Amino acid sequence: MDIVFNCPNCDQELAVDSAGAGTSIECPSCRETITIPGTPAPVAPDAPALSLAASPISTSAAAKIERHLKVPVRDTPGERLIVKAKPPLEAVVRGAGKQVRTHTIKHGACIEAGHDKFDEVATKFLNEVGETNIIGIHTISYSFLDIGTQKLLNDYGLLVVYRG
Ligand SMILES: [Zn+2]
Repeated sequence: MDIVFNCPNCDQELAVDSAGAGTSIECPSCRETITIPGTPAPVAPDAPALSLAASPISTSAAAKIERHLKVPVRDTPGERLIVKAKPPLEAVVRGAGKQVRTHTIKHGACIEAGHDKFDEVATKFLNEVGETNIIGIHTISYSFLDIGTQKLLNDYGLLVVYRG
């Protein structure tokens, strides 16, 4: 029966024979001298180390306690790391206390004194929202009545769906 515990210094998972409980060993990972925990985690309460010591096999073996250290072999080496991993900060921040909104930018509304400011206006808005808050950007087309010619003309724009 092995004692499985984590090195208090480097958090490396270690497995040691239960005979080594309470003794000091050198962590194979960080070389720090650490103390093996006294209570083997997976052992049932009615299976104390005393009964093991009473058996002839472990008594003879006790004279030459072999405290071999080994890193447990797992089928899925990354499993423990994945469990420990915290969600990325971005995922926590994203959407926190924010609502999904839309914002329409019409090209025709971005003409100032004959200058086309569409890209400037769109760029400014997108940077204000921030890339992580943008859910989608859609192109739109719309028609409007041109006052000068009294005709319906087509124009384009952007519909931004974002969190804000
Ligand atoms: Zn260590």
